[in-house]
Amino acid sequence: MTDMPNDQLENVLDQVITLTSEKDSSGLEVTLAKTLFALANIKNVVIYSARNISRVKYARANNEEIPEDELIPQALIEDLLACLESAKIRHIQPEVKRLTLFPLMCSKVQPLAVIVLEETDVGSHDLAIQILKIYHNFVALMNENERDTLTGLLNRKTFDQKVNNIITNIQNNQHRRKDDHNEPAYLAIFDIDHFKKVNDTHGHLIGDEVLLLFSRLMDQNFRDKDLLFRFGGEEFVGIFECPSDIDMLNVLNRFRKVIADYNFPQVGKVTVSSGFTKIAEHDLSSKVIDRADVALYHAKNSGRNQVYQHENLVDIGTVSEEKNNSSGDIELF
Ligand code: GH3
Ligand code: MG
Ligand code: MG
Repeated sequence: MTDMPNDQLENVLDQVITLTSEKDSSGLEVTLAKTLFALANIKNVVIYSARNISRVKYARANNEEIPEDELIPQALIEDLLACLESAKIRHIQPEVKRLTLFPLMCSKVQPLAVIVLEETDVGSHDLAIQILKIYHNFVALMNENERDTLTGLLNRKTFDQKVNNIITNIQNNQHRRKDDHNEPAYLAIFDIDHFKKVNDTHGHLIGDEVLLLFSRLMDQNFRDKDLLFRFGGEEFVGIFECPSDIDMLNVLNRFRKVIADYNFPQVGKVTVSSGFTKIAEHDLSSKVIDRADVALYHAKNSGRNQVYQHENLVDIGTVSEEKNNSSGDIELF
C-alpha cells in the first residue's frame, strides 16, 4: 500500500489527528507549525494575513528566532499578492532560500492568508504541501462553521466561546508579572439606525448590500486581531483590546463617523449607534452583552448616531448598575 514504515505512518497520522482535533481556529496556527516541524524539514513558517498582505499574522521558526526584519521582505509582497490572485501554490527561490507560498482561501471570494514555508532540503517538499492541503480543508470547514455567510464575519454561534476565552485570558493575566502589560478588553454592539426604512424603501437585496458594505468597513477600520461578529440582522459586535476607556470611545466614534460619511450606493447616508462596555475579570458573556445593550439603548434614545459606554452611564447616574436586559424592562435592539 505504501513504502512508508509503519511507525512513521503512525507518527504522520498522530500529527494529523492533533491538527484536526482543534476546536477553535485561534490555536490552529501553532499546531500547524508544530506538525510541519515534526514531519517535514521546514525551517520557518510565516503566515501573512490576506486583509493586509504586508502584515505578519503568525511566525514561528523551528530552531532559532526569526529576526524581525526578515519577517516582511518587501521583495516578497508581489509574490504574495500573485499567490492570492491566482489561488495557486508558488515556489520561489530568493537568494539561497527555498520558499513555498500556499494560498489559504476559505472561499473563492474571501482569501484568508498566505502561508510561506522556508524549506531546509529538497525531500521535505511533498509532505509539507500535503499537510498544508489538509490544514486548508480543515480551516475551510471551520470557517464555514464559524462565519456568517453574507458578510464573512464571525457568527453568533462562536460568540460565547470567544468571549469566554477572553475572560479566561484576563483571569490568567492577573496572575502574571505586572510588566507583561496587557490591554483591557472591550465589547461593543453596533446597530444600524432605521435599517427597516432602508429595506422598506429600497428592498431586501439593497438592504443586504448595505450590510455587506457595512461589514467591509468594519473589517477595514478595525485591526486584524479585533474580533468582529454579525450578531443578527443589522446588529454587529466587536471585541477589542484598547489601552483605556477614552481610547475605546475615540476608536468607536471614528468608526461611527466613517459610516456616517460613507455614501452607500443607491441608499446614500446610513448611521450607526453603539454601546460598549469593559470586559471584567469575572464577567459572563451574557452580562457583557446586556451592559453593552443598555448603552446602545441609551444611544438610540439620545437621537442615534452616537456611542455610549455603560460604565460611564452608571457613573453619571443615567443607568443603575443592576439595570440590564435580563430584568425584562428594556427592549432588545
Ligand atoms: P433602530 O434605529 O431603532 O435600530 O431601527 P431599525 O429599523 O434599524 O430597527 P428594527 O429592529 O426595527 O429593524 C431591523 C430591520 O432589519 C428589520 C429587518 O427587516 C431588517 N433585517 C434583519 N435581518 C436582515 C437581513 O439579513 N437582510 C436585510 N436586508 N434586512 C434585515
Ligand atoms: Mg437598527
Ligand atoms: Mg436591531
